[in-house]
Amino acid sequence: MSPVSRLEDTLDALRKFYGPLPTPPRDPFTLFVWEVLSVHSTPRKRDAALTALKRIRALTPDAMWRAPQKKLEESVALAGPYAENRLRALRTGVDLFRRSPSLPAVIRGPLAAARRALKPLPQLGESGAHRMLLFAADHPILPVDARVSRVGRRLGYGDASDDFRKQARSVQEALTCELPRSVDAFRRAFSYLSHHGAATCTERDPHCSVCPLLEECPEGRKRVRTMADR
Ligand code: SF4
Repeated sequence: MSPVSRLEDTLDALRKFYGPLPTPPRDPFTLFVWEVLSVHSTPRKRDAALTALKRIRALTPDAMWRAPQKKLEESVALAGPYAENRLRALRTGVDLFRRSPSLPAVIRGPLAAARRALKPLPQLGESGAHRMLLFAADHPILPVDARVSRVGRRLGYGDASDDFRKQARSVQEALTCELPRSVDAFRRAFSYLSHHGAATCTERDPHCSVCPLLEECPEGRKRVRTMADR
């Protein structure tokens, strides 16, 4: 049996601290909608908008295409500002999914073709495309958004860089080395690290004194020492 990595210990500690967490949708179109609703929103508002779209039965490409515009607008508005941008992105996505019914199968296939198929979808970016590959297409690939990148760096994974993509790739590589090659392990790692970055290891004011990772975290120990010296 292979030894348990430091990252797996970290994830166990986070699971004990937060309990079970919801994961992004598994259906490719619903996950695309979830991504569009997530931008500049909060999980609560995003989920309210997604529930409203479910209620009006608009969570397939054809159903969204046919949905009454007013009801669609009202549902999407629940995610917060930028409703026009979201509606535009959804229209583009609906069009793409309807024109490419094989897209869900393609993204489950070889990675190069899967990445190419996701490229035209608006608002995904690299971490959104990786979430799609992991959660909707079962590829063991770790999405590194701003939160995962921040938490990873603070815990000592990867190299710091002013270039977000460069840092994200370095953190992704370092974290991936410590994960068992299983899709569930990658999903769990993303969910807990990203949630930790939103709830406790926040950008400006990380709550290190209550963090379950403090003992193992170089950045947290430094911050707590600095506070004690004041
Ligand atoms: S100890 Fe502080 S910096 Fe380290 S992971 Fe926890 S909240 Fe983030």
